[in-house]
Amino acid sequence: MADIPPIAWIGIGLIVAVVAMLVPALTIFIAVGILFIVVGVAKMVRSSAATKETTNTHSYHTASPRNEASPNTRVCFVCGAKNSALANFCGHCGHRLS
Ligand SMILES: [Zn+2]
Repeated sequence: MADIPPIAWIGIGLIVAVVAMLVPALTIFIAVGILFIVVGVAKMVRSSAATKETTNTHSYHTASPRNEASPNTRVCFVCGAKNSALANFCGHCGHRLS
């Protein structure tokens, strides 16, 4: 699934949606076609965002206090909020801190 390029998802989605529109018995597949198009667009957006992120990852990593594991804080892995090292639950989202 990971090897399918985003444009292929959109192409398959368009074909499925068009065929489904032409064949009354396949009306349900219009939703499947739209789903493929949505997945394709999402993959396209994500891949363009990922290439943008890789250039910024290093500066973010050194600058962001969120990723730093301070001995006095426990960073919530769900929402990223900082909590006291003694806290068992996140003060922001209430998720259990492990
Ligand atoms: Zn949280």
